[in-house]
Amino acid sequence: MGHVFSEAGDGIGHVHFVLSGIISAVAGMQDGRTVETFMVGREGATTPGAINVPVRTYSRLVGQAAGETRRIEVTRLRALCEERPDLRTILALYAAGLQGELEQSGACNALHRSDQRFAKWLLRCHDRIDGETLLLTQEYLASLLGSQRTTVNEAAQGLQKAGAITYSRGRVTILDRAALERAACECYRHGQRSSIDIPEPQ
Ligand SMILES: [Zn+2]
Repeated sequence: MGHVFSEAGDGIGHVHFVLSGIISAVAGMQDGRTVETFMVGREGATTPGAINVPVRTYSRLVGQAAGETRRIEVTRLRALCEERPDLRTILALYAAGLQGELEQSGACNALHRSDQRFAKWLLRCHDRIDGETLLLTQEYLASLLGSQRTTVNEAAQGLQKAGAITYSRGRVTILDRAALERAACECYRHGQRSSIDIPEPQ
């Protein structure tokens, strides 16, 4: 948690496969504000596009929930993809799913309320961790969601009132997942389809 895998603009030397925990891609603005653009859990890997061409990261990649990763040099991964076309296909499908998720989140950020987005975000974290508890400070949460601390606080209070979560001192515990799903916007389901259930290669 808190480990910086790469800074925005870095060339990509390694692809990190997440075994447990969560890596967040966090975009920074000139005024210092930050927002999470996507997250990677055990369904994925950082910067899968690097298997085709040399690319740079657009966002800072930082550990958001403690866990374990394996990294591989991009050149080695490219060589493996030559030997194993099925590996290339799986990574390309994952990259396409991630692209779809980013398009959906562009729409989500513009159209959906912050409490809905907060519920969606909690569900997406819950899918990627073992157990029911997330450790996050309110400040960190706000910076991830691109909202004011008070907005995050209100959203957390609302969900707590509904019995969906308990929240105190940076510890979010999910009590009622179904309630959280009802509170989330439709984009949660979209994200599940696009990045977690990778279709069988044709
Ligand atoms: Zn949404």
